[in-house]
Amino acid sequence: MEVTLSKDEILRYSRHLIIPEVGMEGQLKLKQASVLLIGTGGLGAPLALYLAAAGVGRIGLVDFDVVDFTNLQRQVIHFTSDVGRKKLDSAAAKMREINPFVTIDLHEVALSSENALEILKNYDIVVDGTDNFPTRYLVNDACVLLNKPNVYGSIFRFEGQATVFAYQGGPCYRCLYPEPPPPGLVPSCAEGGVLGILPGTIGLIQATETVKLILGIGQPLVGRLILYDALAMKFRELKLRRNVECPVCGDHPTITKLIDYHQFCGVPRQAEAPQPVEGDIDPTEVKARIDRGEKFQLIDVREPHEYRIARIPTAVLIPLGELPKRLGELDASVEIVAHCKGGTRSAKAVDLLKQSGFRARNMKGGILAWSDKVDPAVPKY
Ligand code: ZN
Repeated sequence: MEVTLSKDEILRYSRHLIIPEVGMEGQLKLKQASVLLIGTGGLGAPLALYLAAAGVGRIGLVDFDVVDFTNLQRQVIHFTSDVGRKKLDSAAAKMREINPFVTIDLHEVALSSENALEILKNYDIVVDGTDNFPTRYLVNDACVLLNKPNVYGSIFRFEGQATVFAYQGGPCYRCLYPEPPPPGLVPSCAEGGVLGILPGTIGLIQATETVKLILGIGQPLVGRLILYDALAMKFRELKLRRNVECPVCGDHPTITKLIDYHQFCGVPRQAEAPQPVEGDIDPTEVKARIDRGEKFQLIDVREPHEYRIARIPTAVLIPLGELPKRLGELDASVEIVAHCKGGTRSAKAVDLLKQSGFRARNMKGGILAWSDKVDPAVPKY
């Protein structure tokens, strides 16, 4: 069946149709194209909005998350009234409103080795909008195995990167980073923070490359990694080459099927983290001890800028990184209770304190749990 544009579509896409490099032929390519967006968060938001507006015929969305208040600073496809709603439903509603001619597939799953090939194989182009290493390696390997272009972007604080992997003999993510960094070394977007506008800039570079690949125009961002520094307002470009030793796209690949990426990256699956440890203390118990006037020392191992957002009145601020050289400030005759934002950094602090001969316990769930269970006036962030 010959694909054509309706009168309404011709009007809608007129500013494409009058560019010779796009024209009717290009708009029909867009209409017949299918793109899978992994994630409808910071990067996925501008991607979904603009690819829908541009008339990409079928757009798949993969997400299993729910919109929360901390998303709204950058995930512009989700509105305040969407908080608590599934991100897939929230994103699809906006995309349909922008362009009812686009077909939207919803995949409400956590992408995994079990389902990735089955989902990705039905799309021409895969766009990686994830913020975690297991999914990034999974998407990369699946794209190499399926021979699909992987339009990559990543963001951190004021800096971002973008490139197109696994396209026409070009390099893949593993050519650049064969192995993930040690767990805990690189903070996630949630821990590290990100300028709200940054995913817009990087997501739109990904959207531009996606449209160029579909149209077959321009120089694709293949074999080149764009590095963007928002503070300096500078773009740099690194040349990338396919690594013949690459474990997945090299001349003698050792990875020929998908593996367990959580194990590979040394990070637990989201549902599994973080498990309370025996000896952890609940925030309500900490509050009861304060009220009873018991002698113990509460320390806050977060950073000073977090302490300025929210604090527990009796807690003494000693950032985790300073703890080893500030042990002398602690009273070894009493028990130390450490807290952070969610309980992960304070668990490290407790290990360190115990190794140094202190009696120490971790406050379960950090200041977020304190806000939930003890004092709702303490803001969550
Ligand atoms: Zn490779």
